[in-house]
Amino acid sequence: MNIGVNDGHTIKGFGSGAVGIISEGEHTRLVGAEVRSLIKAYGHNAINCTVDYANSVNQSLSLILDQANRVDLDWFVSIHFNAGGGEGVEVYTYGGRQYQDAIDVCSNIGKLGFKNRGVKDGKGLYVIRRTVAKSMLVEVCFVDTADANHYLQVGYKSIAKAIVEGLLGQVAHVANNSTTQSNNYCKNFQSFFNKVTDTGAPLALTGYGPITQNALNTMDNLIKTNSRYCREFQIFYNKATQTRLPLKINGYGPLTQKAYDTMQKLIKGEY
Ligand SMILES: [Zn+2]
Repeated sequence: MNIGVNDGHTIKGFGSGAVGIISEGEHTRLVGAEVRSLIKAYGHNAINCTVDYANSVNQSLSLILDQANRVDLDWFVSIHFNAGGGEGVEVYTYGGRQYQDAIDVCSNIGKLGFKNRGVKDGKGLYVIRRTVAKSMLVEVCFVDTADANHYLQVGYKSIAKAIVEGLLGQVAHVANNSTTQSNNYCKNFQSFFNKVTDTGAPLALTGYGPITQNALNTMDNLIKTNSRYCREFQIFYNKATQTRLPLKINGYGPLTQKAYDTMQKLIKGEY
């Protein structure tokens, strides 16, 4: 995947960020650099879309945009810190679209002890509105409330890890270990299966076995007979495998069957 990472505002002068207990400009750069290095460590491309200095606010925004739009990105991520009193993390997307990756970024940061303010409508934000790629703007927490002290305890590295794991999903950062990888596909599939079928069946938490095979068989039947399940499975498959195969949007066909067969092999570690 190609992921554009923007460290929020300029360092100082025109277009610079908020200052409270901590400085937005300083900490977006710490988080951003770590995000890029983790993305690369997981085998993906990180494109730095940061602008340090500009002659005006407008120029700073258009320079960011130039960098974001010069490459075909899978995600453009802009890192910010909030100000003005308040608490918690929030993520902005165009029209408030509830992308799973955006929800995951928000909840991963929330799990570090920040209030989860959710995924909100950011179409009023220049870098959301004008980027060609799918984009999200992360407001990590507030620079001018107790949030900032908590952030300093948590550390920028944990924030970066939370963002990258949300972006890449669980499978993308698994080391080249086929057993671990297969366990992860297995676990992901099982929780997907429970969610979409609304069953609370006590599936195996790790590893392939008869319970997982049963879930796979059931899913196989469901996708062949119900276009809703078919679509849900395809979305899950694309996300889990980080592929953008042009699967059929509606209804069962050879592409869906191929995705199902591949998923089955991934789960069993035969792929
Ligand atoms: Zn900001």
